[in-house]
Amino acid sequence: MMNRRHFISAAALTGMGAASAMASCATKPSTTTTYHSIPKLKLSLDRIVKETVGLRPFRASGPRIAKEELGSKTIVHNYGHGGSGWSLSWGTGNMARELVLSTGERKIAVIGCGTVGLATARLLQEKGYEVTIYTKDLPPNVTSSVATGTWSPASRVCDPKVAKPEFKQVWEEATRFSFRTFQFLLGINDIAMWVDEYNVFPERQLAPTDLAQGGEAFHLSGLIPERQELSAKQHPFKDKYVSWRSNMMFNIPSYLHHQMSTFVMLGGKIKVHEIKKLEDLDALSEKCIVNCMGLGAKPIFNDEELTPISGQLACLIPQPEINYKLTTKGASIIARKDGIYLGGNGLVGNWDTTPKREYTEKFVDVLQQLMKEMKS
Ligand SMILES: Cc1cc2nc3c(=O)[nH]c(=O)nc-3n(C[C@H](O)[C@H](O)[C@H](O)COP(=O)(O)OP(=O)(O)OC[C@H]3O[C@@H](n4cnc5c(N)ncnc54)[C@H](O)[C@@H]3O)c2cc1C
Repeated sequence: MMNRRHFISAAALTGMGAASAMASCATKPSTTTTYHSIPKLKLSLDRIVKETVGLRPFRASGPRIAKEELGSKTIVHNYGHGGSGWSLSWGTGNMARELVLSTGERKIAVIGCGTVGLATARLLQEKGYEVTIYTKDLPPNVTSSVATGTWSPASRVCDPKVAKPEFKQVWEEATRFSFRTFQFLLGINDIAMWVDEYNVFPERQLAPTDLAQGGEAFHLSGLIPERQELSAKQHPFKDKYVSWRSNMMFNIPSYLHHQMSTFVMLGGKIKVHEIKKLEDLDALSEKCIVNCMGLGAKPIFNDEELTPISGQLACLIPQPEINYKLTTKGASIIARKDGIYLGGNGLVGNWDTTPKREYTEKFVDVLQQLMKEMKS
């Protein structure tokens, strides 16, 4: 058996660095005079069919992508993606795959069946690895299932005051790889789609660097279109500062289903199996283990940096004509195939996953007022 103390002290020497560059919220004037006709949302508390609270796995220095030798095993870490795990899953999965490649092992264990574990497992399969996913829970009982599901690679990905400057480069590389990969998932049963995204505010907005608000540490030009500021003649809202861009979104239930089905179709195995302590990893038959446990990595690897940023969502019955994303002061809407999700909060350090009715009421109030003031 491996020595726990050796395991733990090695685990404390965490990997990667991070950055200080701040996000800019580039918004340019609209290049057209097109009017944006925006259908109204049917908003009432009795249309809310589900409320969830998810815990974003946040690390101030950024996600941990690193290799370490623990006893007879090689552990490749790929966890701690904050509010950007959906977006960065392919990019950091590719970095984890590079680390696996350097071990020479061909039979790989991936711990975790969230979006990060599944993307990493699929990327390993693409190179011919024999992969088994071990997981405590399956979707929909994972954090990835209670996310919003938009392209937001910079959201709560690190605290730029803490992250090392090198992290910016790592983030950029992961962002570009993910973006390219998503372009090949568009059109497959709408698991990934382009949608119109609106920001509607009474005053001019900077990118929200505050972790509670969205914590966008970085901005990368040239992937999705920049925001365009719309004139009052181009939108139906009362507020003065309205911007629009196209953005990608992910239909989470069908996306995760697609990932799991493809993984199994290509010979992958999924085993429900909880890692309760570090030594449990030693009992696995695979020598190389990829840690995609999200927040679950905290107690196993004593990662003091890993902390939750909770986010509550309330789901409305779908309305087929609503197919946009909108953010305003105090609430946001994202229309997915499975429902229209209202949300917008982030509580740093909160472990409580019980939905609070008052947050849902606030989202509904804010958005009802916005819809009431809209020109029809
Ligand atoms: C409200 C909210 C909104 C979000 N919106 C977005 C967004 O719009 N865009 C975006 O890119 N990201 C978003 N995120 C962030 C994103 O959801 C996370 O970064 C991502 O889900 C992390 O994925 P993961 O696979 O690392 O973790 P998880 O989904 O938590 O998966 C971890 C896996 O590890 C398993 N596991 C844990 N512990 C153990 C153990 N001890 N033994 C065995 N298995 C274990 C779990 O069962 C699970 O299968 C949002 C998150 C929240 C909460």
